Amino acid sequence: MEIYNKLFEHFGPRHWWPADTAFEMVMGAILTQNVSWRSAASAIENLKQDGILSLEGILSCDPVDLAVLVRPARYHNQKAKKLQSFCRVIAAEFGGDLEAFLSQEMGILRERLLDIYGIGPETADCIILYAAEKPIFVVDAYTRRIFSRLGYFPEKISYEETQHFFMSNLPRDVALYNEYHAQIDALGHHTCLKSKPRCGECPVVCRCSVQDQFTRQK
Ligand code: SF4
Repeated sequence: MEIYNKLFEHFGPRHWWPADTAFEMVMGAILTQNVSWRSAASAIENLKQDGILSLEGILSCDPVDLAVLVRPARYHNQKAKKLQSFCRVIAAEFGGDLEAFLSQEMGILRERLLDIYGIGPETADCIILYAAEKPIFVVDAYTRRIFSRLGYFPEKISYEETQHFFMSNLPRDVALYNEYHAQIDALGHHTCLKSKPRCGECPVVCRCSVQDQFTRQK
């Protein structure tokens, strides 16, 4: 919580997830895999402009046309297939009712998500936290990099171990998990860069175990 409070004080509220509906959020979570949010947002904008940002729209779109629309998010053939796979499950098993899908018990929802083509732990947990609004902590590369530099665990730690670390040290709170992940993203994106972190402007520098090493390199 001490780290969270310092980050929040520095960056302010991040207002995540940037989406108008749960459906848009899910599509965005798939599109942002391995690319920046800016690239995913550009693909979302294409889907909106083409009028197909809906379950029916994605399912009825020709896969080749869909791949062209999501090209800004890269890996476009795979991502078009992933979007359609997700929509097919909601249509076939939940009559197209995304809310009914998301309202399942958290463990069952996570298991079903992980069974869908192209959805791994990080994407599943983003959907559970930001679309289903259930308390699960999202882990990404920034989380591992920052908290290993802060000395809490080694960078090679597994997804599950990292998630357990946060969830056993924080209250189970959707709003807190939502904001904490967004704060970590802000620090990883703007400050705690992979090769040349900007330690001089870091709000958690006083807790960092490696900042000396990066300062000496300058
Ligand atoms: S002090 Fe530097 S290395 Fe440490 S967390 Fe901040 S930016 Fe990252």
